[in-house]
Amino acid sequence: MSNIKILTIIGARPQIIKAATLSKRIKNQYSSEVEEILVHTGQHYDEKMSAVFFKDMDIPKPKYNLGLGGLSQSTMTGRMMEGLENVCLKERPDWILVYGDTNSTLAGSLVASKLQIKLAHVEAGLRSHNMNMPEEVNRILTDRISNLLFCPTTLAVENLETEGFNNFPNTKIKNVGDIMYEGVLHFSKQARKPTELNHTDLNYVLATIHRAETTNNIENLKSVIEALNTINETTNVIVPIHPKTLSIIKNNNIEVTFQMINPVGYLEMLWLINNCSLVITDSGGLQKEAYFFEKCCLTTRTETEWMELVDSGNNVLVAYDVNKILSEFKMPKKFKSSGKLYGDGSTSELIINAIISTS
Ligand code: UDP
Repeated sequence: MSNIKILTIIGARPQIIKAATLSKRIKNQYSSEVEEILVHTGQHYDEKMSAVFFKDMDIPKPKYNLGLGGLSQSTMTGRMMEGLENVCLKERPDWILVYGDTNSTLAGSLVASKLQIKLAHVEAGLRSHNMNMPEEVNRILTDRISNLLFCPTTLAVENLETEGFNNFPNTKIKNVGDIMYEGVLHFSKQARKPTELNHTDLNYVLATIHRAETTNNIENLKSVIEALNTINETTNVIVPIHPKTLSIIKNNNIEVTFQMINPVGYLEMLWLINNCSLVITDSGGLQKEAYFFEKCCLTTRTETEWMELVDSGNNVLVAYDVNKILSEFKMPKKFKSSGKLYGDGSTSELIINAIISTS
């Protein structure tokens, strides 16, 4: 059988984390049938937001790095398309594989469509139903032009069916489970305590803040920070702070009394999740990881793509409402197991086999 050439596009932190699991599987188990070429768009370029993951998770160095971080949304997406088109013309891949919902995802998808290269989307079918989110636009457009839609949950499949995707020619929908769940199963054995943690008190709340809806609306950001400051009066709050959020906090002189640490590597993040008492976040990935480690989560958003977490009673949408965050924090919480919402940890194998059988 001739090699199937897959061009995998990564750019933002969660995509690098997701690619680690799939790329490892291709290298270890499918290298005689599948050749993977990694392209990093450079959307996240900081050592702590990108390079650390390659080192910790043993991800091969991307063959191409377009170095396109730090630009405005449209300029970044446009330049990514130009760069990716050049790579595709040189490499002539059979497939383009994209993850999630970032500008890198959209740029890769559009290039696949323009060059008539088959497109596979990992994390297809997720919906927040909030078209003000750039991520929602990116994922809907990507899904629409994908040939293989790899859904992580039954809800994601249902979303696509509701939108009529099961009737589109040349489009296949597959529930393959969640690639991040497989990643946690694989990497949690290597979890390690962050060196920057300056206390040994293990009763702490882990929080992250980075979504545009929080950081681009200064009132929302101030509310979340006010709630975390208040919680920190009784329970330590630890926040690995996203560089974008940190610069907004500094530029607006927002008072922070909880502990901010630098963004941590994935293995350190897994340690932080495993040992915390509660997660408070606006991150998509972290909501699920809280579940994988049997932690309850307060999500500082008005909606989530991961509604099964809310339905299972382990995740509460607290928006940007200080009182709601504090009252939910005070309410005693007990994790309720809801079984395997995200598959059985064989996502990478299901994805690769589907690509091979569709080639
Ligand atoms: N993460 C990490 N270090 C950090 C913060 C987050 O490794 O300092 C991981 C987190 O565990 C999850 C992923 O980054 O696997 C989530 O990425 P992010 O929150 O940036 O994006 P989202 O999931 O919202 O798209």
